[in-house]
Amino acid sequence: MNIPQLVLQPGKDASVRRFHPWVFSGAIDRIIAPAEPADGEVVAIVDHRGSPLGLAHFQPHGSIVGRIFHFSNQPQQAPDEAFWVAKFRAAWERRRALGLVGNPHTTAFRLIHAEGDGLPGLIVDYYAGTAVLQAHSMGMYRARTVLAQALAVALGPQHLTAVYDKSADTLGNAADAGAPNGYLVGGPPPDPTVLENGHRFRIDWLTGQKTGFFLDQRDSRALVGHYARGRRVLNTFCYTGGFSVYALAGGATAVDSVDASKTAMALTDINVALNFADADAARHRSFVADAFDFLRGPEADTDPYDLVILDPPAFAKSRAARQRAEAGYRRLNAEALRGIKPGGLLFTFSCSQVVDRDLFTSTVRAAALDVGRSVRLLHYLGQPPDHAASFFHPEGEYLKGLVLAVE
Ligand code: SAH
Repeated sequence: MNIPQLVLQPGKDASVRRFHPWVFSGAIDRIIAPAEPADGEVVAIVDHRGSPLGLAHFQPHGSIVGRIFHFSNQPQQAPDEAFWVAKFRAAWERRRALGLVGNPHTTAFRLIHAEGDGLPGLIVDYYAGTAVLQAHSMGMYRARTVLAQALAVALGPQHLTAVYDKSADTLGNAADAGAPNGYLVGGPPPDPTVLENGHRFRIDWLTGQKTGFFLDQRDSRALVGHYARGRRVLNTFCYTGGFSVYALAGGATAVDSVDASKTAMALTDINVALNFADADAARHRSFVADAFDFLRGPEADTDPYDLVILDPPAFAKSRAARQRAEAGYRRLNAEALRGIKPGGLLFTFSCSQVVDRDLFTSTVRAAALDVGRSVRLLHYLGQPPDHAASFFHPEGEYLKGLVLAVE
């Protein structure tokens, strides 16, 4: 075999055999290679007897030294284009089975969700013929040219006209990264507009956050649409206004959208205009403001809202930041619960991976007690199935939401 081998200590193969994709530094017995593998190099994972377990990208810095992208008990070659084509075809077929490929009402979805699709470190979002690729590991970053080619082959020209690489945002500071964002296949489409459940959204992957759109809230947005009729709605942390468009379409009497970013509010305005004629769009107002301030301000005070959405960015990116994040969620949810009209609904989310569902639920419960509101839990929400986590990698469950009815 021509690729370096990471030999695991006796017993340390158990988690790999349970399909957990991370190899920790403490599990390594030795590395068989002419020289220490480089950051992002493909390595074979073998048990202490030398039996193959799979292929991984090597990461010399940090506690995770190998991220497995192929589990197999057969000896493996280094991956070539055909290898990636097979992985992408399988992911495409999984999206077809979910009713997302060829769906006339929804033309945007996540095609590769990192560990959830067996490809740690790789995100690919599909926007009506353009794939936006983001590498979160040096291994995927180094492979991005072949990955883009393989995407083009796997989907074919009828489904894919462009691949845009946005990895400078995620790996821009890494030592041998540094290539600017840009098209690896094709170029800008004439009209970067997609459909989500029949609603139109303009996607700006060049300057937008992440890959340009938060596809992971598709199902929760539909639920907001379902409950919106006759309600006065507040959408905080609105970004491109996804929840606002669904609430307007669902028959809300008024929708106020709030984001601290001016650019985000401009995108929200574009998306409202794409879906509603002027008279109808008059139900919508945009506010560039801090969500915490807004919830304490005059709009929420004089005429209380009866459906409020809280979808903040991750408050905790590490375990160390978890306590501060907890306090942030508690304060934010308390502000929203304090002001909401009796009979109102709160849609509250956390996308912090280190704040699990139990912790988030108990934090919001504490917030409700802080402000003395009586609350019933109507729905637990999570990530949609194109963002599914591997069942063997619970760390991949990051998005959780609660729908609360407030007395
Ligand atoms: N709900 C959105 C995604 C939210 S992303 C959707 O469905 O697409 C988080 C957003 O919060 C970003 O747009 C960011 O600009 C905004 N934000 C961050 N801190 C904020 C604050 N303190 N007040 C208001 N908006 C904030």
